[in-house]
Amino acid sequence: MGLYDKFTRLANQREQFQTSGLNPFGTCIDEVYSATEGRIGERNIVLAGTNNYLGLTFNEEAIAVGQAALANQGTGTTGSRMANGSYGSHLALEHELATFFDRPTAIVFSTGYTANLGVISTLADPNAVVLIDEDCHASIYDACVLGGAQIIRFRHNDAQDLERRMVRLKERAKDAIIIVEGIYSMLGDVAPLVEIVEIKKRFGGYLLIDEAHSFGVMGATGRGLAQELGVEQDVDIVLGTFSKSLASIGGFAVGSAAMEVLRYSSRPYIFTASPSPSCIASVRASLQIIAQQPELREKLWANAARLYQGLEKIGYTLGAHISPVVPVVIGSKEEGLRYWRELIDRGVYVNLVLPPAAPSGITLLRCSVNAAHSEEQIDKIIQAFTALQR
Ligand code: PMP
Repeated sequence: MGLYDKFTRLANQREQFQTSGLNPFGTCIDEVYSATEGRIGERNIVLAGTNNYLGLTFNEEAIAVGQAALANQGTGTTGSRMANGSYGSHLALEHELATFFDRPTAIVFSTGYTANLGVISTLADPNAVVLIDEDCHASIYDACVLGGAQIIRFRHNDAQDLERRMVRLKERAKDAIIIVEGIYSMLGDVAPLVEIVEIKKRFGGYLLIDEAHSFGVMGATGRGLAQELGVEQDVDIVLGTFSKSLASIGGFAVGSAAMEVLRYSSRPYIFTASPSPSCIASVRASLQIIAQQPELREKLWANAARLYQGLEKIGYTLGAHISPVVPVVIGSKEEGLRYWRELIDRGVYVNLVLPPAAPSGITLLRCSVNAAHSEEQIDKIIQAFTALQR
C-alpha cells in the first residue's frame, strides 16, 4: 500500500474542485492592496473572509516599527524561546500583555496553535480530565490528545450539559479543566461564560478560555468575552493569538505567576523557534492601538450589524446573533461551492466551510467583517449575496 493511498478519496474530491474552477481550499490571493481589498486572478475583490478584525494589517505605525525591527534585529531569531530566541522585545511584549490583562504572567508562543498546544497539552496530562465545548478549535482537541488527558466533550454552549458531566465526575470534578472559547470561529456565537463560571465555582476545577476571536473585539478595553461579562477573576488562563485582531503571527497565554513553570515544561514552547522580531514589533504597536482606540471596536460592531441586518433582510439563515463572524447557512455542499465562486465573480471573497470543519454537518459561507470596511464595501457584500441565483 502506498504512503498516501488512504487519502485517495480526499485527493479526488480536491482534484474535482480544482478542475471544475477556482479551488476554495487552495485559493491564491494574488495581491493584497489593503485590509479590505485584494485581487484573485483578474478580479478585484473585497476581502470579507479574514480574521483581521480591527483592520490593522496595513496600520502605518505597525508597519513602520516592523520594518525598523527587520532592519535592526534581522529576519528571524533562528532559535527557541528557551535558548537564543528570547529578545528584549519578546520580554517587553510579555510585560505589556500582562499589564494589558492585569495579570501576573504572560507567555508568548510562536502561533495561537502552539499557545494552545503548549499550555493545554502540558496541563492536560494522562491524570487530568478535560471538559471541552464540542465546537472548540482543532488546536484544543490536538492539545488534549497530545497531553493524553481524558477528554469529555459537552454540547456546544450548553452549560446544563457541562453541569451534568461535572456531576458524573464526582470527586474528580474539583480538578477538572474546563475549556471554552470567547467567540466561536464558525458560528460567531459566544460562550455562556457567566453560567460556566457559576458551575466552576460550585464544583471546583479550572477554567481556560481561548479568546482568539474575541480579543480586541469584546470588552471595555478589548480583553475579550470574560471582560465583557465581568468574570475575568474566575478565569484561570486566557489564551490568544496575534493572527487576528493583532494582525500578525504568534500566540500568547496570560495567567497566574505559577504559569511561569510552563517555560521549562511545555514542549511546544521549547521545541520551536520564537516569532521574528518584526512580528513582535508590529504586535506591540497593535496592542497599543487596541488599548487606545476603542472606536475601532465600535466601527467593527457597526459593520457587523450592517452586514447581519442586510443579509437577514434578504432571507438568509445566519448565526443567532450579530457578530463580526457572520455565518450564512447554505443547503448543500454543491450549492456552497457554486455560491462561493459566484461571489468571487461578483468581487467578494468569503470562506467556504464544509463539514466537518463546520459544526453539525452544515455548509457555511462564512463572512467576517472588520473595522476597516467602509459602508459601501459592506453594501457590496450584501448586493453580491442578493444577486446569487438561489
Ligand atoms: N484558537 C482558535 C479559536 C482559532 O480560531 C485559531 C485560528 N483559527 C487558533 C486558536 C490558532 O491561531 P493561530 O492561527 O495563531 O495559530
